[in-house]
Amino acid sequence: MGDVVLEYRREGVVSTGRIFLVEGSLPEVSLQSFEKVSFSVMMTHLARAVQKDSSYGVLLVRSDYANLRPTRLDQETIDLLRSDPVTAIRSMTVPSRHIDIKRKPLAVESSPIRIGYDALADSFGDQIYCKLSSNMMECPVCGRWADIEVRVLVCKEPKCSFSILMKPQSSKWATIETIDLLGSPFSRFYLPRAWNPNSIWISKQELQDLFDHWTQEKVANS
Ligand SMILES: [Zn+2]
Repeated sequence: MGDVVLEYRREGVVSTGRIFLVEGSLPEVSLQSFEKVSFSVMMTHLARAVQKDSSYGVLLVRSDYANLRPTRLDQETIDLLRSDPVTAIRSMTVPSRHIDIKRKPLAVESSPIRIGYDALADSFGDQIYCKLSSNMMECPVCGRWADIEVRVLVCKEPKCSFSILMKPQSSKWATIETIDLLGSPFSRFYLPRAWNPNSIWISKQELQDLFDHWTQEKVANS
């Protein structure tokens, strides 16, 4: 049981870094280094590294932001990286809005689904919905638009520097795990949602209370 660590820094659209293996107290094992490669090349290296052992976890570490904590990739994405790297890599990038004026826009989203997500976004549960726009996501800590890099929201506001694993759900919404947010060191969050009793900001304690209540209800109804 070890972790494959992808440590990288971004320079514009290319990344430089290395992939290595950590396992308990054993010395780290270098697997691959790369310089100025595209995102998909970097992720192809990562996919190759995770093929070696199905018990490995994956940690993403940004070396260009000292205060960003390592992010653990979810098991679903790791499994997909092993079984279908091409699809996995495609799924890790939020599609940027591409408008082809020569063709009629494709109906990629039927309206019932769009209405569905908008309604779901106001519901509280194991996941919290956050707004997406192009390649940006609304930071649930400071409320500013933050970058998305490899399924991670990376807020570069100096006072915030928050990062959290995210999952795109539609072109307008992504989800984060409520428990991840509660595990962050921040004392309040920017979450203007229908379930927020204060309408805009919510303290960690209030969020924790909501989550405890939700968890109790979930257990009671199961
Ligand atoms: Zn922020």
